[in-house]
Amino acid sequence: MDALLDRTDTVDGSPTTVPSRRTRIVVIGAGFAGLTAAMRLTRADAEVTVIDRRNHHLFQPLLYQVATAALSPADIGAPIRGILSRQANATVTLGTVTGIDVAGRAVLRAERRIHYDQLIVATGARETYFGHDEWAVVT
Ligand SMILES: Cc1cc2nc3c(=O)[nH]c(=O)nc-3n(C[C@H](O)[C@H](O)[C@H](O)COP(=O)(O)OP(=O)(O)OC[C@H]3O[C@@H](n4cnc5c(N)ncnc54)[C@H](O)[C@@H]3O)c2cc1C
Repeated sequence: MDALLDRTDTVDGSPTTVPSRRTRIVVIGAGFAGLTAAMRLTRADAEVTVIDRRNHHLFQPLLYQVATAALSPADIGAPIRGILSRQANATVTLGTVTGIDVAGRAVLRAERRIHYDQLIVATGARETYFGHDEWAVVT
C-alpha cells in the first residue's frame, strides 16, 4: 500500500500521506502508431488518454479497395473507443489538437488543456509535392 502513497509533510511538520497521482500519458493520434503505443501501455500504472480528430481508426492500406468500390468505407474504419474498450486505463477523446504547451505540459484542444506527464505524438505524415502544391488533389 505504501507504494501507492506519496509522503508529504504538513505545515506543522508532521508526516501525512496523500494518494499518489498516476502518470498521465497522452497519445495524439489513433493510427497504427498511436494505437500500438496505447495498447502497449495496457499494464502501465498510468492514465492513458488517446486524442484523435476522427472517431475511427482508418486502415489505410485498404483505401484503394474503397476507391475501387471493392469495399465500403465502413469496412476499413473501426471506432477507436471500441478498439480500446477493454483497456481499463485508457480514455478516448475526440477532437483536433491545435497546439502543445511544452513548458506547461498540456495539449491544446479547442478551449481545453489536457495535461500530461508523458506525451506521444503520433499524428502521421503528410504528402510532399516538392514545391508543387498545385499537384495536390483538392478534397
Ligand atoms: C493507400 C495506402 C496504402 C498503404 N499500404 C501500406 C502497406 O501495404 N503496408 C504498410 O506497411 N503501410 C502501408 N501504408 C502506410 C501506412 O498506412 C502508414 O504508414 C500508417 O498508417 C501510418 O500510421 P501513423 O499512425 O503514423 O499515422 P496515421 O495512420 O495517419 O494516423 C494519424 C492519426 O492522427 C490523427 N491526427 C492527425 N493530426 C491530428 C490532430 N491535430 N489532432 C488530433 N488527431 C490528429 C489522424 O486523424 C489519424 O487518426 C499505406 C498507406 C496508404 C495511404
